[in-house]
Amino acid sequence: MKRIFRILLCASLIFNFQLSTFNLLAQPLPQGYFRNPMDHDIGLSATFAEFRANHFHGGLDMRTGGAIGKHVYAAADGYVAKVSISPWGGGKILYIKHPNGYTTVYMHLDGYAGAIGKAVLKEQYAKQSYSINKLFAPDELPVKKGQLVAYSGNTGGSGGPHLHFEVRSGGTEDLHTHSTLYNPLLFGLPYTDNIKPVIRGIRIYPVGRKPFELGKENELEVATPFYLGIYATDAAEGSTQRNGLHRIEVHVDNQMVFMYTTDAIPVDSTRMVNALIDYRHYVDTRQAYLLTRALPGAEGEWIPVRQGDGIFYFENGGRHKIQVRVYDIKDNMAERTFTVDADKESTVCPTFSGEAVRYNQAFNLQRPTCRIHMAPLTLYADDFLEVSNVDAAPYNAPLITVQPTVNDIPPHQAYSLSIKPQTPFPVPPSKVTVVRLDGKRMAAYPTSSSAGWYTAQVRDFGHFTLAIDTVAPTVKPVNFAQGKPLKGNTIRVKIGDDLSGVETYNCYLNGNWILAEYDGKSATLIIDPRGKMKQGANTFTVEVTDGCGNRTSRSYSLTR
Ligand SMILES: [Zn+2]
Repeated sequence: MKRIFRILLCASLIFNFQLSTFNLLAQPLPQGYFRNPMDHDIGLSATFAEFRANHFHGGLDMRTGGAIGKHVYAAADGYVAKVSISPWGGGKILYIKHPNGYTTVYMHLDGYAGAIGKAVLKEQYAKQSYSINKLFAPDELPVKKGQLVAYSGNTGGSGGPHLHFEVRSGGTEDLHTHSTLYNPLLFGLPYTDNIKPVIRGIRIYPVGRKPFELGKENELEVATPFYLGIYATDAAEGSTQRNGLHRIEVHVDNQMVFMYTTDAIPVDSTRMVNALIDYRHYVDTRQAYLLTRALPGAEGEWIPVRQGDGIFYFENGGRHKIQVRVYDIKDNMAERTFTVDADKESTVCPTFSGEAVRYNQAFNLQRPTCRIHMAPLTLYADDFLEVSNVDAAPYNAPLITVQPTVNDIPPHQAYSLSIKPQTPFPVPPSKVTVVRLDGKRMAAYPTSSSAGWYTAQVRDFGHFTLAIDTVAPTVKPVNFAQGKPLKGNTIRVKIGDDLSGVETYNCYLNGNWILAEYDGKSATLIIDPRGKMKQGANTFTVEVTDGCGNRTSRSYSLTR
């Protein structure tokens, strides 16, 4: 069975020649409808659809001069349809829905202006939670084009002050699932770019052999079949130097065989970026090489247009001219031309071992201490899964290794991984968690238990085992101490957890719940007690729980 499968896989590498179809944008986008959401000229620190691990960048990162608190304006008439706040990801987010069906989204905000700010605070106190996800009806918070709606910031996963701005359409009620992201610059926002992009690297991937970097030479001999990887960046007036491209083309003997552009990205497909780039190389070097080859589980109408499967066979050998062209959004172009001498003698059909997985079929594995279930389309292509278990790992639990051997790409969706210890753990099942070992680090997954098995939905490959978390979270005052006066206007507390992570946090001032902003990056709770502290002694309480239900509660006497 395994041998037959191996041959089919090899055949599919060589004979798959159907033409991809594509449909860039179904209809023209409205021009001039949206205004620049900020006061100053648009300068970008990241462009639309830049390659990131696990997602395409879904909008524009607008520079704010390194500062927070810059005015953010509604890009057009509409209403506030949603506010969502989280210590992670987009931080403080505002969604404005417009009568033409598009929604503009503003992320990493420092705060919300006027009536929006009041509505947000009301919701946080009603839910007793910093993190909220609140939908508003059309008549609750209408906005006019150019109205001040928010202040730019650096909240959530942001690595420096900026405004992340998106244009979306469609989607379910939450304006996210099934929505489509558009390049905001295609709506005619004022933007200058007279600077050419730069091709920083071209890699050649002979199938079944080690890839190599094209050097300065313009003529080279290459074993066939092979495919290409292209890494290019763009700069613009007022931008950083390493922004993404708008279009990448490959021409062979003066005929275009590959064209890639991303004007629109379905949110549900954004993780497919992992299958379009050389994922492992990106993780190791932060250089994203777009690959010309196709994987069947990462195809769609928005994905590259290729002749065939994006692999160069050159079955009759010979010399061929290859041109790589990259364009930015204003069609500034950079080009690299080279000639390959196709070495037709050296075709290699690689062999693999492991559990055969068909990318479009479910996969189930049952072993005495390990179970795996993958739904169809968890992988982007047929593969062989190496699953090994060592049954006496450091934590007295099996160490399970799950790794594909053909394509080193994380799964498109989570799969179910269950582990059973040889001897039951001497703690309640809620204290046991599935963990992934990453060097010396351990990452815990939310875990359920049943009949001695511990199960997690994991979205990674690698080494997994079980660990016990009976240690409660830590709470550390930053700018105050027991019985001493508070230093500054805000109360700051660092919180943390050794393994399963902070799950809930609540703060109380004199017995009343008080809003604590949680900055995930610095693991700090920030409380503004102004107008809520009384003269003399106040009782301030912090309660934190972790993913395994361990709880820490600390009370402090605070004076003003
Ligand atoms: Zn961004």
